[in-house]
Amino acid sequence: MNLTAHGAAGMDVGRLVSILRTSLSSGLSSAEVRRRRGQHGFNEFEIQKDEPLWKKYLGQFKDPLILLLLASAVVSVAMKQFDDAVSITVAIIIVVSVAFVQEYRSEKSLEALTKLVPPKCHCVRDGRLETFLARELVPGDIINLSIGDRVPADIRLFEAFDLAIDESSFTGETEPASKHTNVLTTTKNNGISHMANVAFMGTLVRCGNGKGIVLGTGESSEFGEVFKMMQAEEPPKTPLQVSMDQLGKQLSFYSFCIIGGIMFLGWIQGRHLLDMFTIGVSLAVAAIPEGLPIVVTVTLAIGVMRMANRKAIVKKLPIVETLGCVKVICCDKTGTLTKNEMTVTKIMTADDKVAEVDSGVSGVGYSTHGVIVCDHNVVQKDSHPSITKVIQIGVLCNNAQIIEGDLQGQPTEGALLACAFKMDLESMRQEYIRLQEWPFNSDTKYMAVKCVPRDQKGPEVFYVKGAVEPIMRSSTHYYVSRGQPQPITEKQINHFMEQASHMGSAGLRVLALAYGDSMSQLVFAGLVGIMDPPRDGVREAVQTLISSGTQLKMLTGDSLDTAVAIASRLGLYASGGRCLSGDDIDQMDISSLSQIIGMIPVFYRVSPRHKHKIVRAIQNNGLVVGMTGDGVNDAVALRSADIGIAMGVTGTDVSKEAADMILVDDNFSTIMSAIEEGKGIFYNIKNFVRFQLSTSIAALTLITLSTMFSLPNPLNAMQILWINIIMDGPPAQSLGVEPVDHDVIRKPPRRAKDPIITRPLLVNVIISAAIIVSGTLWVFWREMQDNKITPRDTTMTFTCFVFFDMFNALSCRSQIKSILTVGFFSNRMFILAVGGSLIGQLLVIYFPPLQQVFQTEALYLSDFIFLICLTSTVFFVSEAKKFIERRNESRIRKRTVSIGDDEYHRDDLV
Ligand code: ATP
Repeated sequence: MNLTAHGAAGMDVGRLVSILRTSLSSGLSSAEVRRRRGQHGFNEFEIQKDEPLWKKYLGQFKDPLILLLLASAVVSVAMKQFDDAVSITVAIIIVVSVAFVQEYRSEKSLEALTKLVPPKCHCVRDGRLETFLARELVPGDIINLSIGDRVPADIRLFEAFDLAIDESSFTGETEPASKHTNVLTTTKNNGISHMANVAFMGTLVRCGNGKGIVLGTGESSEFGEVFKMMQAEEPPKTPLQVSMDQLGKQLSFYSFCIIGGIMFLGWIQGRHLLDMFTIGVSLAVAAIPEGLPIVVTVTLAIGVMRMANRKAIVKKLPIVETLGCVKVICCDKTGTLTKNEMTVTKIMTADDKVAEVDSGVSGVGYSTHGVIVCDHNVVQKDSHPSITKVIQIGVLCNNAQIIEGDLQGQPTEGALLACAFKMDLESMRQEYIRLQEWPFNSDTKYMAVKCVPRDQKGPEVFYVKGAVEPIMRSSTHYYVSRGQPQPITEKQINHFMEQASHMGSAGLRVLALAYGDSMSQLVFAGLVGIMDPPRDGVREAVQTLISSGTQLKMLTGDSLDTAVAIASRLGLYASGGRCLSGDDIDQMDISSLSQIIGMIPVFYRVSPRHKHKIVRAIQNNGLVVGMTGDGVNDAVALRSADIGIAMGVTGTDVSKEAADMILVDDNFSTIMSAIEEGKGIFYNIKNFVRFQLSTSIAALTLITLSTMFSLPNPLNAMQILWINIIMDGPPAQSLGVEPVDHDVIRKPPRRAKDPIITRPLLVNVIISAAIIVSGTLWVFWREMQDNKITPRDTTMTFTCFVFFDMFNALSCRSQIKSILTVGFFSNRMFILAVGGSLIGQLLVIYFPPLQQVFQTEALYLSDFIFLICLTSTVFFVSEAKKFIERRNESRIRKRTVSIGDDEYHRDDLV
């Protein structure tokens, strides 16, 4: 039954329907869908055929350093040093296994990211239009496409109104391809761009609407193949990943030089060559933080999952980093800062009647209960003709429906309909036939319909609702309840505008309503004021972000008064502040807009086309900007912003596709949570970089110094490999998943170019490494008093190093806060990782087979007590340093201060 897109394009729809055994009006039945699912499976792809695990595992042995180590094991066998050979091999297996598990986890968490935003579709089944996941589709399903949708499968169109589809991802064409339903005569060798009656999976509807029949799904969909190739593309590395790769390379280079030097020195000193070689290579394995990029990737990926739990879906890894650098957030008002739950609270008619809508306790939102009161009288169906006229226009020029208290359609229209219910006027729509509609759009800011009474006893009339300015411009008369409409005068216009401004100042969204025989000669009927309260918690979120030095800008299509009223309530605007309108923006060029944009917190009467200019003006000032959007026309601005933020509930697929981040609940506070996570992740990455660097430097220095002073090697090759596991493995990783410190949100945004390795971080690394090296060397020297090197000596030195490392990890959990504030048990992964490492260490010391591998000996309890007292110094010194820094910071508020590893740029806060 699978049809190729080429085949279907050349076939008329009737034939296609019979081949696919479906119905254009009622679609497939549920039973048939189940049967076809059994046959065709889900509409999805296996993106990459996974390599078998054993192959991946063996792949780990391709690392040149591991190969060198294996070579030294082979040489040991050749020299009949079987013990050494077994030890090295076991140690290699442990190292490789830990690396493998980590890489596997990193892959899995990256894979999980691609499943965060499953595409949906609108499909007719059993005669009903339903919305569900696109993976549920089977061949023969009937799909409805409308503006902003993503095409969920390859579809042969049988209905297309003004349909244009963006196929740029396949064809590179930036202009949307216009689609029709006609049969194509020559379909052979036609590329995607010539198949005008087929919509391809993964493309986006830019304009119009249409319907179509699903052809092949999943693996058998023809053009899904192209889509699959695109999906399988390796995502680009994040700047942090790139800089970690570079850092890794630099460190490798230095390590190799030092290790070369050590081996050369050892050779001159006449040490055993194979020993020196094995130690050198193990040191290379340990000192080179090859795990660094993996730990960064896993940390970022885990951060993305954590953000998803907090209702922010980040689509690309680099965005996690950028989030911590966002300096300006431009946010739509309706639905993001406000609830988008609209209620009409005031009606003002052209003949100066003022009515308050009392929705009662339960009547807020789309409840049909409540009363409308005018001059202390309850407004009934026909008691106040001018109010009835206003509501009549509101109902006729309206596409919303309220079914059992649930709204289907736009909230603004829902509010008008709910108001009509309160006056028993909701059925008015049935009394008219709609002849034509001019839908609302945010450029024209009005909606109009042309209707005629169903009983044909009246003329065709235009009913219009929209923002006050366009309606006033087209109004030539105003409605009076008794007599003919009166010509509108300048004075009257000013009066109506004043009333609108009055409503707006109370934070109401104002709609003007009018009717007439022609669109250029309307009769103004009145105004309604709609309340859309700010979301809970947004004021606090706004305050927190502003105090951290992030600028917030509110963008709205509403009027100046409404915008200012809501912005003031949210603490975004102080009286006397400047606002810009869409018209003002039109009149400025980018550079003059850039100059003043820092001072503008509110933009009113803006439409999507202004957003792009605002983004560019901000970026011109070198600032990182986040921009929200939901409509098809917002896509350009979302793409050009450093972080495009789409709305999960009200957003179109086009905006979601263009965005970098999706707010599942459309809520502004979610942006704050995401920024908090973004900043926190950066600190976590710094933490484990500090940990890995100090361990790596300590290990290198230890061996270098002992070689330079002609001491025997304090650690053998296996022990060095064990240290590598701790450094690159679970303890380092667990620092990356440290719960986000909620105070980070109060810190200023990071500068995008700020390096990870700052001077204060290096100082911390050097202090820790110096303590570890001196302590370990001292233990080694103390143990070697008998001038003979025994397993006990290296066991003590080895355990000393490992314990130092554990305490070092503990102090790396925060660069600023004391462990008492952070909490010993707040990072479960850390407890598990360190606990696991300690148990491993005990096994290495006490478990005979491992004793053999690592050439260790059992220690006494007193040894442990001694070692714990000694190694905890690295932790206490770090805590003392943090304490002094905290005290200094609160005392001296210099322009630039550094706390822990972080430099604060106070200029940014001004
Ligand atoms: P945002 O804040 O998300 O940018 P907004 O709701 O503030 O959006 P628009 O939706 O562009 O901005 O609305 C601008 C103005 O257009 C409103 O103040 C209102 O007067 C009018 N308006 C809004 N929705 C409709 C509609 N469905 N029909 C007619 N007029 C509308």
